[in-house]
Amino acid sequence: MKPENRNGFTTRAVHESCGFSGATGAVMPPVYLTSTFQSGNPDGFDYTRSGNPNFRLLQQSAASLEGARHATCFASGVSAITAVVSTLQSGDLVLAEENVYGCTYRLFDKVFAKFGVQVRYLDLSRKENWDEIRRQCPTMLWLESPTNPLLKVVDIAGLSQVATEVGAVSLVDNTFASPYLQRPIELGATLSLSSTTKYVNGHSDCLGGIVATNDKAWQEKMIFAQKALGLQPSPFDAWLTARGQRTLALRMERHCANALALARWLEKRQGVRRVRYPFLPSHPQYKLARRQMKGGSGIIIAELDCSATKALAFCRKLQLFTLAESLGGVESLVCHPPTMTHASVPRDVRLKVGIGDGLIRFSVGIEDVEDLRRDIDAAIKAVLGM
Ligand SMILES: *Cc1c(COP(=O)(O)O)cnc(C)c1O
Repeated sequence: MKPENRNGFTTRAVHESCGFSGATGAVMPPVYLTSTFQSGNPDGFDYTRSGNPNFRLLQQSAASLEGARHATCFASGVSAITAVVSTLQSGDLVLAEENVYGCTYRLFDKVFAKFGVQVRYLDLSRKENWDEIRRQCPTMLWLESPTNPLLKVVDIAGLSQVATEVGAVSLVDNTFASPYLQRPIELGATLSLSSTTKYVNGHSDCLGGIVATNDKAWQEKMIFAQKALGLQPSPFDAWLTARGQRTLALRMERHCANALALARWLEKRQGVRRVRYPFLPSHPQYKLARRQMKGGSGIIIAELDCSATKALAFCRKLQLFTLAESLGGVESLVCHPPTMTHASVPRDVRLKVGIGDGLIRFSVGIEDVEDLRRDIDAAIKAVLGM
């Protein structure tokens, strides 16, 4: 479908996840809470592990928003990753961005390594490392942009091109950007994967994952993994995700505006050593981020000039930011990677990759930005006395 013949993103988000309510006239779709379907039904459903009307609705609208022909829904982002990696064979090589999400690393290291899938890590933000892709000819190139938690941005179009040259499949974990800000399939990637738990659903009330592609063979592999590995979501979670997705554009606009305003302010605030946000000119890949993304998204990294203990105390002082893992919901969250997500990483390794003791990750919600700013200001004053 040519983009010029299509409705805009927000119109598609609102309209393409409605319907399937038969002759009832219901404007919104029901939840099809059924494990099985009567044999011979016109839509061809048989058993919910291999398909359900709520999956179909979510998959059609998610594909449309990703600018892709197909999408498959899963129980979580990790289920979606499992589905993709389960297609590999013993001896296959994955070249991955070195700052991939922790659970992706764990899955490669603790599960798929046992089955002979090899993974090597590279800093793919450095163009001189791209020659390694040509030299090593991997089966799959595993990208993530922006990365969790360091917000590194990699060139999706450029790297997808290199992957194509060497006959590798390119995958982008698009969770931090969401399809509203960045569409990997349109940039040339084979697969776009999202944990819909984060921005796509946006309300922190269910887990989910999506894999989008233009490639029919890959779509068949994903549908097969959904049913053969039992990676499907519940119909209710698929319904919740489809509902959340309708307001994705509006929410992302506010997340981006709030985060940019806070990032700019934090950069000047006494007691803050450094701030990283893709749409701040001080970000190492600022120009690329501006080209590749429609907005900087809602995550900010800030390093406070203090010990890990004080940084954690700062997090606990905040009133409007809940200290919790996860991100991308309407409510603001804060996380202290050194004592939470990266607690098991030795301190010297953590420092070397850029996760200092005072590093804080903010998931900026859609609240009134002035309230958020006042909250952070008061917590810095309370803990750092400045
Ligand atoms: C959260 C997250 C995942 C995993 O998703 P779940 O829904 O928690 O299983 C994968 N990738 C990134 C970048 C994430 O932030």
